[in-house]
Amino acid sequence: MCGIFGVYGHQEAAALTQLGLYSLQHRGQESAGIVAVDEDGRARVSRAMGLVSEGFEEAEMEVLQGPIAIGHTRYSTAGASAIENAQPILARVRRGHIALAHNGNLTNAVELRRDLEEAGAIFSSTMDSEAIVHRIARASGTSPEARVASALHGVEGAYCLLVVLDETVVVARDPHGWRPLVMGRLGESYVFASETCALDIVGATVEREIQPGEIVAIDALGLRSMQALESTPVNRCVFEHVYFARPDSKVFGGSVDRSRRALGRRLAIEQPAPGAEVVFAVPDSSNSAALGFAEQSGIPYELALIRNHYVGRTFIQPTQAGRDAKVKVKYNPVRELLEGKSVVMVDDSIVRGTTTRGLVSLVRAAGAREVHMRVSSAPIISPCYYGIDTPRREELIAAQMTHDELVRHLGVDTLGYLSIDGMLSAMPSGPEGYCHACFSGQYPTATPSEPELLRAGSAA
Ligand code: 5GP
Ligand code: SF4
Ligand code: MG
Repeated sequence: MCGIFGVYGHQEAAALTQLGLYSLQHRGQESAGIVAVDEDGRARVSRAMGLVSEGFEEAEMEVLQGPIAIGHTRYSTAGASAIENAQPILARVRRGHIALAHNGNLTNAVELRRDLEEAGAIFSSTMDSEAIVHRIARASGTSPEARVASALHGVEGAYCLLVVLDETVVVARDPHGWRPLVMGRLGESYVFASETCALDIVGATVEREIQPGEIVAIDALGLRSMQALESTPVNRCVFEHVYFARPDSKVFGGSVDRSRRALGRRLAIEQPAPGAEVVFAVPDSSNSAALGFAEQSGIPYELALIRNHYVGRTFIQPTQAGRDAKVKVKYNPVRELLEGKSVVMVDDSIVRGTTTRGLVSLVRAAGAREVHMRVSSAPIISPCYYGIDTPRREELIAAQMTHDELVRHLGVDTLGYLSIDGMLSAMPSGPEGYCHACFSGQYPTATPSEPELLRAGSAA
């Protein structure tokens, strides 16, 4: 997964982009980058591994001049974690430059790359996104947006794109609409972002979502929009609302806080925990859902797990003892709230089960009498090919164990997941038009022919 942000028509485009990327940090912490284009059409790039706060020295920001900028935060994936894979990509081409920031995963990336390599293209990264750059470089068309549209014909899977072709910004969202993308205004300038929380930080107002299948272009001639990509049923990612997006964002036209609370309320109806005395969240991703559960059930909400916000993502321990320590470094229970109690621990999802298992043992060690685990999504049983880095099926604990095995493995007294219908009914515009493949195994498109190769080149 990734976060993308772009500005057209502001003298401080790069500085605004850096601010926007701070608000999209949760969508990717592996690397961050900005490309800026100045009045003379010169493009400059700055990319670095790590967080936005570590990535851009003052001196570098000074160099990123001009009224156009796009930026990217990249999520760590199974593919190579290397600076070559940081975005935006900047390519110098015969006619000028192409810069591109991509959120999503292409499902036919292996085939696209093979075709391009057979035709002589040389790749400098292992990212699926680079294939789009090559296709744009080769595409012809009467306008920049026509070139992008032509390049995207035959590209399958999930993409939200911010492209700069010379001095035109072209924005595209795939016809299925898996990933979110919004357009905002800041005075006369246009701002584009994965989530509305990034518009808030720069003081921009939300104008509208970029529609699935839409291409928007903006340059000196003004703003143009075309429904350029073939129409198909929309499959917005339900997991954006469950886990990924920030609760202060509006995603797919609805508040994430609202949908998460609705998920929690619905969970309390479907999977009550009678007799429990305390509800708490696994912070931060399930705070809103746990609040919803508490509201609906009437069980008091407590902050019984405290998360340390200063733990770096580099804290990796290969041994089992190290893995237990990893959970302890990140979370600590408040003994006074748990001792002798029957408690409900709410989380948004269980992926591998490693964190959950560690947390349950921490909560028990803090004196909880009974632990009732409630999950505000359905069991994750299938990998995602559309931009969320869920692991292979063999590592998905709910795909490997029966309910009773899971209860024993996690060490809980009871375990209750939300149903798929319950999950979809909490979405902002109702249950239709959402992808739920990782929960249901029903993929809305053909799945990749070579998922492992794809994984290696993933730029999610
Ligand atoms: P597990 O018990 O499966 O090891 O971890 C569950 C936790 O992982 C939950 O708190 C959930 O919020 C979080 N989670 C779910 N999906 C992702 C993801 O894609 N990336 C990361 N870093 N955490 C995730
Ligand atoms: Fe989202 Fe799951 Fe569909 Fe991936 S498979 S797009 S995570 S709902
Ligand atoms: Mg979490």
